[in-house]
Amino acid sequence: MIDWVADYWASLAARRVTPDVRPGDVRSQLPPRPPESPVPLADILADLDRIILPALTHWQHPAFFGYFPASASGPSILGELLAAGLGVQGMLWATSPACTELEAHVLDWLRDLLGLPKRFASAGAGGGVIQDSASSGVLVAMVAARERATARRTNAGGVTASAAPLVAYASVDAHSSVDKAAGIAGIGRDAVRKVPVDGLGRMDLPALAAAVHADVAAGRRPFFAAATVGSTACGAIDPLPAIAEILAPHSAWLHVDAAWAGAAAICPELRGAVVAGAERADSWGFNPHKWLLVNFDCHALWVSDRQAVVSALSTKPEYLRNAASESGAVIDYADWQVPLGRRFRALKLWMTLRMLGAAALREHVRRHVAWAREFAALVAEDPRFELLLAPNLSLVCFALTAGDDATRELLDRLNATGRCLLTHAHVGGRYAIRMAIGGATTGRDDVLATWRLLASLA
Ligand code: PLP
Repeated sequence: MIDWVADYWASLAARRVTPDVRPGDVRSQLPPRPPESPVPLADILADLDRIILPALTHWQHPAFFGYFPASASGPSILGELLAAGLGVQGMLWATSPACTELEAHVLDWLRDLLGLPKRFASAGAGGGVIQDSASSGVLVAMVAARERATARRTNAGGVTASAAPLVAYASVDAHSSVDKAAGIAGIGRDAVRKVPVDGLGRMDLPALAAAVHADVAAGRRPFFAAATVGSTACGAIDPLPAIAEILAPHSAWLHVDAAWAGAAAICPELRGAVVAGAERADSWGFNPHKWLLVNFDCHALWVSDRQAVVSALSTKPEYLRNAASESGAVIDYADWQVPLGRRFRALKLWMTLRMLGAAALREHVRRHVAWAREFAALVAEDPRFELLLAPNLSLVCFALTAGDDATRELLDRLNATGRCLLTHAHVGGRYAIRMAIGGATTGRDDVLATWRLLASLA
C-alpha cells in the first residue's frame, strides 16, 4: 500500500488536477451490497486505480493552487499510519498517557517555533491542543468565551448585566466558521457583527469601534471577537493590537484565526505581522495541515487560560472518573474539545517536526513566498492583467483589466484545461483569481508554467 501511495505521488504531474466526472459516476461503478467474503487486496487496488483515482481532485498535485493547500508529507503519512496501527484513544490522560503528553509537548515546541507568547505555554496557565479543524478551534474558543461572560454575569448578579444579549465581532472577510460557531453555541449567527474591511481587506477599526459602541449603548454585551490573520479571500491580516484595545474595556475574548498564514510565523523574517498582538489574545489557532506539511486533519489551538476551556467543556460521568484526573496533575484533552474520543494526532506532527526538522519547514514556506512575489511581478508586468493587492505571503489575487466577466471566464477556461486549479474570491468589490502557492510537490517551474498558461489563454 505504501508503494501504491508512492507510485501515486510519482504519477501526479501527469494527471489532470480536477476530475472530469458527473454526479453519480462513482456510485454507479460500486456494487449495491457489501461483499460477504474477503476481496483480495489486488482487486481493491485495481478498483482504486479504476474507480477512485479518476474521480479525485488531486490536492497534492504540483499545480494545485486553489483554496489553501492541504498538506501531506512522507513523515506525516507515517505518523498517520502509526496512529492507526496503535489504535489508541486519548480522551483522558489515563486512557493513554503518552497520547496526551506528546501532544502537550509538541504544541509547546510549535509555540516556541512560531514565536508565540509564553502565555500559551503549558508550563503556565495556558496550553495547546490539536483540534480537527480551524472551525472546531473557533467553536471551542467561543463556547469558552460564552462561559466566561456568563459566569461573570452570574457573579455580578446585576439584572441589567444578566439580561444583556451577547454579541461577537468579525470582519466581513472572516471565515464562515465564525458564523457556524455562533449558531452552534446558541449565540445566534445574527449576533456576529460583520465589520467592514479597508482597501487591503483588514478589519476597519473605526467601524469596529462604532459597532461596539452601538451595541453597548443598546444594552448588549460584546463577549467575543475573531481576528483573522490571513483571510481566505486575500490573505489580509487584521490589526490585532488595535482590535484588542477597542475590546479591552469589555473583557471580550479575543480569538485569532490564523488557519493558513500562521505557518509563516515559523520564519523569523515573516513572523512580525503574523503574531503581532498575540500577547493580548485569549486563543490563537492555525492549521499545520494547511501549509506545514502535516496531513489533514491537524489544527493547533493555544489558549492562555486552559481553565476557561475546561470549565465550559468538562463532563465527569462516573465511568470516566480516575485518580489521575482527580489529582489535577494531568491534562484530559476530552475537556478541550467537542467529541469525547480523540485520535493520536500528535504523532504526525511529531514525525514531521523530527524527520524534516524546523529548518526544512522554514525553507518550504520561504520558497512559496518568493515564488508568489515572482508570480505577482509577472502579473503586474502584463498590461492585460491587474494585481489587486500586493501578495500576502504566498497568496496572489489578480484580475483582467477587462473586468469581472472576462476574469471569471478566464478562470473557467484555465481550470477546464485540467492542468492546474485556481479558485476565486471577491477582493475590493472585484472578482479576483487567487493563486495560493503552498503545495508539498509544487516547484518553481509549476508556478511559472501556470503563469504561461494563463497568459496564453487571456
Ligand atoms: N479560517 C480560515 C482563514 C480559512 O481560510 C479556513 C479554510 O480555508 C478556515 C478557517 C476553515 O478551516 P478548517 O477546514 O480547518 O475548518
